[in-house]
Amino acid sequence: MKTIGLIGGMSWESSIEYYRIINETVKEKLGSLHSAKSLMVSVDFAEIEKLQREDRWEEAGEILAKCAQALERGGADFIVLCSNTMHKLADQMMAGVTIPLLHIADAAAERIMAAGVKKIGLLGTRFTMEQDFYKRRLSDKFGLEVLIPDKFERQTIDRVIFEELVQGKVLETSRAEYKRIMEALAARGAEGILLGCTEIELLVKRGDCQAPLFATTSIHAAAAVEYALR
Ligand code: GLU
Repeated sequence: MKTIGLIGGMSWESSIEYYRIINETVKEKLGSLHSAKSLMVSVDFAEIEKLQREDRWEEAGEILAKCAQALERGGADFIVLCSNTMHKLADQMMAGVTIPLLHIADAAAERIMAAGVKKIGLLGTRFTMEQDFYKRRLSDKFGLEVLIPDKFERQTIDRVIFEELVQGKVLETSRAEYKRIMEALAARGAEGILLGCTEIELLVKRGDCQAPLFATTSIHAAAAVEYALR
């Protein structure tokens, strides 16, 4: 079994889900006493969020690069970055290590394609929905067509992530908003909805939209186990 190197804390509300799902999946696959070999480096999200908000991505990338190096030194065989948004900095983060990255968008795209979905609605932080680093990987590398919510809806999605979900608040009113926005994407032709922020599946569950949901924490954690046991 390979040792999984997790970069967490963005936020820890989703990092604990990674830890739980990874261990549950190993137990399912190998039997009762088995658990995953893993290391986690966890950052202070307040520092990261400030750098994101102030557009100081280079400095955030330096923090991630140090995390990746620490994981390599600690004996991790590959890296799992537990945030969609921070994959914006994947190249800078990986420049100083030799172990590979299990990219979250690749893991998600493979599941989406396996389900026969070609047109996908994307929910995530404003950075993930509006910038190119994530959408372009889905379209250029996998040929997926990506739909994002309109401007006002994107503000709602982003606000709920930063003011509620990363702080452990799961509100019924926000679930209703998300449901409405997901149905609107489906009405515009989305054949599935990609929950492209690792906290969203704390709020939204299967059945909350008529279109199938692709939840990145669950998908990425399962892909990590598959890779670790390969
Ligand atoms: N966990 C988040 C994501 O998957 C958002 C927090 C962050 O900005 O890193 O994008």
